[in-house]
Amino acid sequence: MSAKQSWSDPSRYVKQIHVEESCLDLPYTREILNRADLPYTVIEDRSEPQGIDGVYPENLNEGKHHLLLCKNRGHFFKPCPGTKEYRCCDYQVLNIGMNCPMDCVYCILQAYLNKPWLTFFVNSDNLLSEMESAFQAEPERFFRIGTGEFTDSMALDRFTGLSGKLVEFMADKNQAVLELKTKSAVIGNLEGLAHNGRTILAWSLNSSPIMQKEEIRTATLDERLQAAKQCAEWGYKLAFHFDPIIDHPGWEKGYEETIKKLYETVPAESIVWISLGALRYLPSLKTIGTERFPGSRIFYQEFIEGLDNKKRYFRPRRVTLYKHIYGLLKRYAAARTVIYFCMESDEIWQEVMGYVPDDKGGIPLMLDNSVA
Ligand code: SF4
Repeated sequence: MSAKQSWSDPSRYVKQIHVEESCLDLPYTREILNRADLPYTVIEDRSEPQGIDGVYPENLNEGKHHLLLCKNRGHFFKPCPGTKEYRCCDYQVLNIGMNCPMDCVYCILQAYLNKPWLTFFVNSDNLLSEMESAFQAEPERFFRIGTGEFTDSMALDRFTGLSGKLVEFMADKNQAVLELKTKSAVIGNLEGLAHNGRTILAWSLNSSPIMQKEEIRTATLDERLQAAKQCAEWGYKLAFHFDPIIDHPGWEKGYEETIKKLYETVPAESIVWISLGALRYLPSLKTIGTERFPGSRIFYQEFIEGLDNKKRYFRPRRVTLYKHIYGLLKRYAAARTVIYFCMESDEIWQEVMGYVPDDKGGIPLMLDNSVA
């Protein structure tokens, strides 16, 4: 069995847990320690876990073996930081923790974060009450919420069981949906829950060579799709994200095979939305990515700096990539599925999809309608 085939549950990479002193006796901390069954140390509040040598980011491989359980002392719930220059989808982010046991060459967290260990916030009561207050403050508003800005939504779920708490919390929130987005296949805690259609399970997909070479310790395409199929059978709605789309030799065939397999495995009607986004990155990520993954070629292409200071493929190249993938998706997608771009301009929308978001009321409304 290849290493690739054995990472459907990336929490297996965690070897050591560290707990902030003031969190040790919280029932949720105890629950996680019991489920994880790993050695743990207790550290002073706001101090750093010991036993990780080296400097960031070289020590990320080692750091990802370590999980810190602590309190979130800031806000859990905030708007996704889209940029005004590109069309974004008006998402709300639920900050459940930082960093991820998987290791994607293009992962923006390598440049955003400066600590190598994984962090999970155990004051989940505050998380739920903050959401409750936000809903009450704006009763007319529809919220689309995701947990995946600084981590993967499900990668540590075997330990944390957070998905179950969130799914049950969301079940009677008719003004909101929660999207749990992952590259793992950890779905065990989702079985048998009365989700009431308020939680969407989402997977990031890519061409197989990219998944194999650039997404380390992630579930294989088959594992992700089988997990999605199982969730659809449990009545969950699904979403998929082709992001980042990467220009590589054989990309046409690679994306075609993934899309064919997606629709062979998962019922088209269960998919509420699919996003497309070509590779984009902060210049500092290239330095980190090429040093940590010298065998990767993804940063050695022609890029242009966008209005958000991120590097992107030149516009004609993005259009070529998008047109091919959008054409394939349209061949199989159900009429209800919204296919949209994450952070692209009206010009790209028009050229690839033949309309701009405003023609249909804007991206947020298009997405809201697909789950209403
Ligand atoms: S799965 Fe997501 S959060 Fe984890 S390393 Fe990959 S890109 Fe980063």
